[in-house]
Amino acid sequence: MITTDICIIGAGPVGLFAVFEAGLLKMRCHLIDALPQVGGQLSEIYPQKPIYDIPGFPAINAQDLVNNLLDQINPFHPTFTLGERVEKLERQEDGSYLITSNENTQIHCQVVVIAAGLGSFEPRKPAVERLEDFEGKGVAYMVKNPELFRDKRIVLAGGGDSALDWTLFLSEIASKVTLVHRGETFRGAPDSAEKVFSLAEQGRINLILNANVTALNGNGHLKEISISRKDKTVSNLDVDYFIPLFGLTPKLGPIADWNLAVDKSAIEVNTQDFSTNVERIYAIGDINTYPGKLKLILCGFHEAALMAQSAFKYVFPEQKLSFKYTTVNGIHAL
Ligand code: FAD
Repeated sequence: MITTDICIIGAGPVGLFAVFEAGLLKMRCHLIDALPQVGGQLSEIYPQKPIYDIPGFPAINAQDLVNNLLDQINPFHPTFTLGERVEKLERQEDGSYLITSNENTQIHCQVVVIAAGLGSFEPRKPAVERLEDFEGKGVAYMVKNPELFRDKRIVLAGGGDSALDWTLFLSEIASKVTLVHRGETFRGAPDSAEKVFSLAEQGRINLILNANVTALNGNGHLKEISISRKDKTVSNLDVDYFIPLFGLTPKLGPIADWNLAVDKSAIEVNTQDFSTNVERIYAIGDINTYPGKLKLILCGFHEAALMAQSAFKYVFPEQKLSFKYTTVNGIHAL
């Protein structure tokens, strides 16, 4: 069980910055994100895109902004659970909350901050017979811990950057890597595609084009996959892991079941402090809605600052909060 003052659901830019604002008021934060990395939309959708509307930065690359945010919150020692989706939120008798993830990680906190953006990014699942039977038993939709695949026989499927990047990476540690792609050309970066073709020519990976994985077999754990080619031939391959990488789509998911006032997939908040209709639960960033809402990073940063000032009363009910500039309650004093 993880115990913290504030549990932040979503480690996108707004969730990350909330750690800074909470940290200035000496509140500890734990972040949980369904993705295996922090950064939300910036790291997942547009890491190399420049952003022009962050105050003080005429232009900043999205991934650099995420890295800077991590540096900025480092003095406050936030803790993270990555690659797990929050499923359950249970109010305790004393008003605090118990949060449970899809992998049964439990977090006890005084305040919940939902910074869940567009919702949790869920994998797009291909139509493959018995796919769901082997989830967690040979089928993985993300590479959370590459070591799991060391010396194993891996089949990846997909034609975008993730499929190419993980094929290249896993070719170094797995005993055998096969990439199955339904086309002949890749959508991902041309440089990565070239490297994949070159590894295939050298016989270091097995590249199967114009084909789909159509069925899975095994007894408990995945053992064999069937690959159907465009010319209608079908072949079977012995395998330890199948990793379909067909992109991610955001879904509001379990958040919809937490008795929060929701309007068109966004959580309604009071703009005085970005609290929701449920006591001790706040919503900041793209996930919230209010008259005039703009889905911009800088708006989320503002919301995080006001949220922290308001959440203080739940974490330190006996203390009086007086507003100070960072130079006074400064991070270096921590
Ligand atoms: P997100 O970045 O969406 O992060 C939310 C995180 O919450 C995700 O990582 C998700 O996995 C996680 N999550 C959700 N539900 C759960 C759950 N149940 N359990 C665990 N984790 C969960 N904004 C600008 O200001 N300037 C720009 O130039 C700009 N350009 C953009 C370009 C593109 C192509 C796009 C798509 C957006 C752009 N935006 C821009 C918008 C900006 O990316 C968003 O405003 C910003 O990402 C919102 O941050 P956030 O932290 O609220 O949410």
